[in-house]
Amino acid sequence: MTSGENQVKQKPWLGQPAKTIEILQKYHFRFQKKYGQNFLIDPHVLEKIVRAAEIGEDDMVLEIGPGIGTLTQYLAYAAREVCAIEIDRNLIPILTEDTLKDWDNVTVICRDVMDMDLCELVRERNNGRPVRIAANLPYYITTPILMKILEEHVPCRSITVMVQSEVADRMRALPGTEEYGALSLAVQYYTVPEVKASVPPNCFMPRPNVGSTVITLKPRTGDNRICVRDEKLLFRIIRASFAQRRKTLMNGLRNSADLQLSKEQAEEVIAAAGFPASVRGEKLSLEDFAALSDIMSARGLPS
Ligand code: SAM
Repeated sequence: MTSGENQVKQKPWLGQPAKTIEILQKYHFRFQKKYGQNFLIDPHVLEKIVRAAEIGEDDMVLEIGPGIGTLTQYLAYAAREVCAIEIDRNLIPILTEDTLKDWDNVTVICRDVMDMDLCELVRERNNGRPVRIAANLPYYITTPILMKILEEHVPCRSITVMVQSEVADRMRALPGTEEYGALSLAVQYYTVPEVKASVPPNCFMPRPNVGSTVITLKPRTGDNRICVRDEKLLFRIIRASFAQRRKTLMNGLRNSADLQLSKEQAEEVIAAAGFPASVRGEKLSLEDFAALSDIMSARGLPS
């Protein structure tokens, strides 16, 4: 559903703690820990997320986990259209009969986002044109959701998400740091991450026991892209290299049940990439992994 051109848009009215409590009590809602439910109760943070997402009035926004619809109202005010995917069916009456009932540019889908074909959704609802993704993500499943969006190449102009600060640190970590790993490389291969805000626990209900961060991931495009011959191979190598953190790259490649390189093969590709034999995976940049991946791919490895 899209709102008519001359229609005056409804302003967000959720966001204050008192309103959230009122809605939760009205529907006798019980938080489900297994769904990572920490609802936002600070209008300044909600506005920050919308600003960080750079939503324009022609944008379609995909929201994962609308909760009681607080962020959804702010997104719907800024965007042309919002499609919100919520797993908890107990929240659906709250969204459809109450908090979002007057928003004709919002569609709520009751599904587990992990089971959905998001590319298909974008094709159906936005003619395949890139959407903006925005969410206060459930923390128990942050990495799988982001990896799904990135690996499946969901057409999007930006991904703006609230995540645990520790996860945001891993996403933008550089080689040689403790936080650097497979998540840093995946996020930075597909996107350029930028931290937008730090958010303390008192901005949520219930309060999480960790600090949170709003981070925007902008997909790499054109010259900014990192190209490899075989994207899947690149990530197999990255996973093998970080499987045993304190081991050398050589051991990571040799001991990987997935790659199964012989000692000679591992030595040869590491030397061909110009790395010392004793190098550790955590010291290699994304470009280094890309070079190693192309060398292996050119040699038909793993065979
Ligand atoms: N957007 C709301 C807000 O900011 O107040 C709620 C955010 S809360 C951190 C995460 C939301 O994601 C919850 O509503 C939860 O039920 C929903 N959720 C959890 N796992 C999900 C999944 N696999 N698919 C879709 N929604 C999910």
